[in-house]
Amino acid sequence: MAIIACPACGHKVSDKAPTCSKCGVAIAELDPVKMAAMERDRRLQRSQSLMTQSIIAMVLFLAGFYFYWQLPAHGWKYYAAILAIGVGFIWYVVNRIRILMVKRKSKHGL
Ligand SMILES: [Zn+2]
Repeated sequence: MAIIACPACGHKVSDKAPTCSKCGVAIAELDPVKMAAMERDRRLQRSQSLMTQSIIAMVLFLAGFYFYWQLPAHGWKYYAAILAIGVGFIWYVVNRIRILMVKRKSKHGL
C-alpha cells in the first residue's frame, strides 16, 4: 500500500482507496491518461494562483515603499508601511520558490 496525492485535489490518499476522502473523486476508476490530465490541470491552477499571489505581494511591497517615502518617520502608518515592505518581500520570495518547485515537479512527473 502506498500513499499517493489525489489527482483532483492533491489530498494524500492510499492508492488502494476507491475514492478520495476529501473530494470524493473515484481514484480506482481513473485511467492513467485521465489522471495525468487532472494532475496537469491542478498544477496549472496552482501555479496560476501562486502567480496572482506574487502580484499581490509585489503591489504590497511597492505600496509599502511609496508610503515609507511619503509619510513622516513616526506614527503607526509609517510602521505599517515598513511592515508591508517586509511582508510583501518575504511573501514574494516564498511564492517564487513555490512556483519553481511546482514547475520542477511537473517536469519530472510528466
Ligand atoms: Zn481528492
